[in-house]
Amino acid sequence: MFLLFRNVVPKRLLQYKRMSVFTSQLNPITGKMEWELQPENYDFQQEVARSAYADMLHDQERNDKYYEGLRRSIADLRRRGQEVHVLDIGTGTGLLSMMAVSCGADTVTACEAFYPMAECARKGIIANGFAGKVHLIPKRSTELEVGPGKDMERKANLLVAEVFDTELIGEGAIETYRHARDFLLTEDALLVPSEGTVYAQVVQSSMLQRWNRLQEVTRVKPGSNEREVLVTVPNSVLECPGAAAVHDLQLSQVPQKWFTPISKPLPVFWFDWSGRRKDIPCDDTTHVNFQPLASGECDAVLMWWDLRMDQDGEVALSCAPYWAHPDTLGRLKSSSEDIPWRDHWMQAVYYLPQPRKVEVEKPLMLVSMHDEYSLWFNIQEDINKEICMDRPVCECGIHIVSSRTRIGQLNDPRRLKTYIRVLEKLITPDSICLTLGDCCLMAIVAAKLGAKHVYMTEGPGTRKVVEDFISVNKLQHKITVLPGDISEVTTDQLIAPVTVVFSEPFFTTTLLPWHSLYCWYMRNSCLHLMADGATILPSSVSIWGLPVQFRDLWKIRAPLHHVNGFNMNIFDKLIEKACEEADDKVEPQPLWEYPAKARGQPVRLLKLDLNTGIPENPVSSTGSVALPDAGIINGLALWVDWHLTIDPEDTLTTGPVEPVVLHENIRWDVYTRQGIYLLREPVNTKNSISSQLFYSTTFQPSDGTVKFDFQIKM
Ligand code: SAH
Ligand code: ZN
Repeated sequence: MFLLFRNVVPKRLLQYKRMSVFTSQLNPITGKMEWELQPENYDFQQEVARSAYADMLHDQERNDKYYEGLRRSIADLRRRGQEVHVLDIGTGTGLLSMMAVSCGADTVTACEAFYPMAECARKGIIANGFAGKVHLIPKRSTELEVGPGKDMERKANLLVAEVFDTELIGEGAIETYRHARDFLLTEDALLVPSEGTVYAQVVQSSMLQRWNRLQEVTRVKPGSNEREVLVTVPNSVLECPGAAAVHDLQLSQVPQKWFTPISKPLPVFWFDWSGRRKDIPCDDTTHVNFQPLASGECDAVLMWWDLRMDQDGEVALSCAPYWAHPDTLGRLKSSSEDIPWRDHWMQAVYYLPQPRKVEVEKPLMLVSMHDEYSLWFNIQEDINKEICMDRPVCECGIHIVSSRTRIGQLNDPRRLKTYIRVLEKLITPDSICLTLGDCCLMAIVAAKLGAKHVYMTEGPGTRKVVEDFISVNKLQHKITVLPGDISEVTTDQLIAPVTVVFSEPFFTTTLLPWHSLYCWYMRNSCLHLMADGATILPSSVSIWGLPVQFRDLWKIRAPLHHVNGFNMNIFDKLIEKACEEADDKVEPQPLWEYPAKARGQPVRLLKLDLNTGIPENPVSSTGSVALPDAGIINGLALWVDWHLTIDPEDTLTTGPVEPVVLHENIRWDVYTRQGIYLLREPVNTKNSISSQLFYSTTFQPSDGTVKFDFQIKM
């Protein structure tokens, strides 16, 4: 499993080497590393399926505007009296090459660096009857040679390329365009797109900040109105500039009340892809002065970009969120539904290395920087001095080992309130606590609430920062961090047997909510440390499913059939096969970013009692529920509820945080990635009173996996 999920590898930056490959897979539940030697012809199907190709091809605005850009540019060249020789860099399915042929190009050369896609292009071009009309070369553009008998007979006078990601340049566009200008294109070549502009908007947002910086943990002291600090954050964490990786997200789904604009959207970088009017530097810094729109503290920069598809700038494609989108500007009311949806290009948040106080009257300078693949930003008070800054990197360790989702969980008031309430009920001066989890700050809380002693488990990545937490909270005498492998710890290393075992549960390896069942396995390996009748939290877990209609998310897997008149069957088959062969039909998605309507009520699929040992045999549950007249269903959303104790009040959900209302959008926990299971074909149960959802869920104790199967029958 290559982790092609967001924030791990740029989704479309897929590298392929023709050789035997090992794929390593960390089993997130049992915690063991599993290696698998893939055959020489391993075709990275899963990677293709998990990449953003399908949703990119479903992006109709993108397809139409590329087509229009090609049409206009080819007409321009004809007006100049020139022959048209097109180069398509990164042809993918061959789509843009076939468009160029259809617009009347004389020759079209296509290159593709990712071998499985080059194969897909080869077959797709033949299937569409374009064999002989597109010259396909399975190479990176920077390896192409020009000259008689070489890859390209002559330099191209029209370049079409779609080599952009959410950060615009993250897929290597700078090197691709510099090289093309220097070696592959004529002096007067036209480019589709011709230009790109990056916009940045400075904001104040404590909500977004929750994904970036740990905040102190407080509670209302029982019996008084006073707030008391339970966890103080060490300076090493407060002063850390944060994760270097971009935080990409669907900005149109971020409620406007989450942030206060401090600046208008400001154009900060302009790229002339021809590199003739302006060079395409490998790194650059720009300085833009602005008058703050509000006083307060600015802490983040929102970013998006647009492309100019033709030479005159009449055809533009914007990735702006709806409130800044050219299609909705000037309207009194607009919403995310008014602009095209896409997942291959999102928007991004960049956190400032340190928050800055701002005042309305005092002008500020936005400093924007980029290198070959990334952007970063800062704010400066002295608007007369133009400075540059290095790309921020995490110095505290938390941003390296914890995903943004995890940092959000650590700051989530809803979780904290539940954990603290449960610990308040349980902890006594005699309690010997053991916390299982990565960077589990509840160990500090348990000690502050008066436990006799607290033992923690920590991986090597978080050990140092956890020790900083313990010392800044002055709890060295009360908390002991145990060595990595808990099964090797003996009772004589403890002051007394453990009476309370607590797990949040979350681990740095958790991708899907039930991966945190790892806590069960961990606990199983420390039974020898527990006192008789020790309290175990969470005590049980329920896995839930909900039939939904995703507004847009279905596009990441759905067959295309045709795109702008071109047959996409070859590509559809590739995705379908990859999905069939993929070992997991469920993938993690932050569902708050993807609107979905409830088409039923949540169904409890399986409940596991975590107070018992791990069972020897698989645990299965099957059943059905009626879905009368539910409407269109295209998938299921999956999550778990952790029942910390048997008191229903102590349940912590990773799913909907408000009651689910039939046919309404669902409000999800924003600090979890839920699981999604997409149906092969959407089902319309409208007017069917007998429609039923059949489900089957199996927990496999040997490897900790949970398998799902769903069928809807009318
Ligand atoms: N042009 C297709 C696919 C776009 S996805 C379409 O518009 O539908 C971008 C593709 O470009 C990916 O398949 C990636 O592997 C490829 N790519 C990126 N940079 C490249 C380069 N410099 N040379 C060759 N292929 C490249
Ligand atoms: Zn850090």
